[in-house]
Amino acid sequence: MSDIPQKRCTGPCGRMLPATMEFFKRHKDCKYGVHSQCRECINKHNRERYHNEPEYCEHCLALNRASWSRNPERKRANAKVYWSRPEIRERHRVYEKARRMKHKAVPL
Ligand SMILES: [Zn+2]
Repeated sequence: MSDIPQKRCTGPCGRMLPATMEFFKRHKDCKYGVHSQCRECINKHNRERYHNEPEYCEHCLALNRASWSRNPERKRANAKVYWSRPEIRERHRVYEKARRMKHKAVPL
C-alpha cells in the first residue's frame, strides 16, 4: 500500500493525496499520469463555470453530444462499466431514495 506515490493537489484544497485514478483524473502528459488538481477541485471549478458561464455550459453539452455521435459504442461501453461498479450503484440508490423521500415529504 505504501508504494503508492503521494501528490499534492495544486487546486484550492492543497491536500496530499495518493496519485491514483480515485483521486485524480488521468492526464498522460503530467507527473504520475494524473492531473495536478484533484478530482474534487476540478469538479468544483467546472461546476462553477458550468453554472456561471452559459457559453461554457453550451460548450460542455456540445462536447458530450459530439463525443456520443463520434463514438457511441465506446460511450455505451463506458457507461456499462460505470454502472457495473457496486459503489456507483449504491451511491445512485441512496441518492434516488433521498430524492424520493424529499419528494414524498412535500405536503400536498
Ligand atoms: Zn484538490
